[in-house]
Amino acid sequence: MAPTVTLLIQPLPSGEVGADLDATFREVDASAPALRVGELSTQRGDGIFETIGVVDGHAQEARAHLERLRNSARICELPEPNLPQWEAAIARAVGSLPATGEYALKLVLSRGVEHGPAPTAWLHASAAADFTAAREHGIRVVTLDRGYARGTAERAPWLLLGAKTLSYAVNMAALREAKRRGADDTIFVTSDGYVMEGPTSSVIIRRGGVYATPAPSGAILHGTTQQSLFEHVEAAGGRTEYRDIAVEELTTADAAWLVSSVRLAAGITDVDGTSVPYDADETRELNAYLLSPRD
Ligand code: PLP
Repeated sequence: MAPTVTLLIQPLPSGEVGADLDATFREVDASAPALRVGELSTQRGDGIFETIGVVDGHAQEARAHLERLRNSARICELPEPNLPQWEAAIARAVGSLPATGEYALKLVLSRGVEHGPAPTAWLHASAAADFTAAREHGIRVVTLDRGYARGTAERAPWLLLGAKTLSYAVNMAALREAKRRGADDTIFVTSDGYVMEGPTSSVIIRRGGVYATPAPSGAILHGTTQQSLFEHVEAAGGRTEYRDIAVEELTTADAAWLVSSVRLAAGITDVDGTSVPYDADETRELNAYLLSPRD
């Protein structure tokens, strides 16, 4: 069986320096009980997380993930994470993994246990699923109404739309709905017909040589993979933009992808039962870049 690494972390306040960081982690057996029944993360999904891809012993874009963890904490009014502590925990976990292969490293920061102690935090690294088929042959998607109009995030910040919270039951339900409809994945759209994101991924389209993705306005997560791919495209002289994307554009684009930290780039072959152009060569090139060490 592929190895796993699980660290329970005693979260330090942000800004606390000079502590013996290694002494704030405790490696535990992932199959043994580790959380209290009063954990608000499990009772209410009240916490935040990040999933980082590890490729051949390198944690990809760790800093960007930690910045997003900090942003999610701010939105959810959780204590600000101590980023050097998380960096040390990531380094310790990655150091315990094999030097080759793909792993998913999940960081969780929870509001803690009802009536304390709080917050609680842990990290769990396990082998990534095999995404060869999605990377090489693409995926079929359905569009599903997320139920919110554009501008909802600004009007109703308590919905926490721009935070990566542990409350992913809706996202998982959307994936089941996609399967029921004979597809592999979902693209959420606003109730007024604009592309948002996948339940676990960002959307990128290419149209007339320009790569576009919806602006991270607070209604969706700002994907680390999407940002990394835009840097890659721009470095090669390509053009990128953040803009509103009407749902109809998914079928008229020259190519489209769902991108995320562990599956990487999955080209879209079919939207709501309609075949769309799929660029196998470009997808291969994008994944070769995403598999290279990235910071
Ligand atoms: N949007 C949502 C809702 C996600 O859950 C994820 C990742 O899990 C993404 C976008 C893509 O983010 P990243 O590229 O940082 O993995």
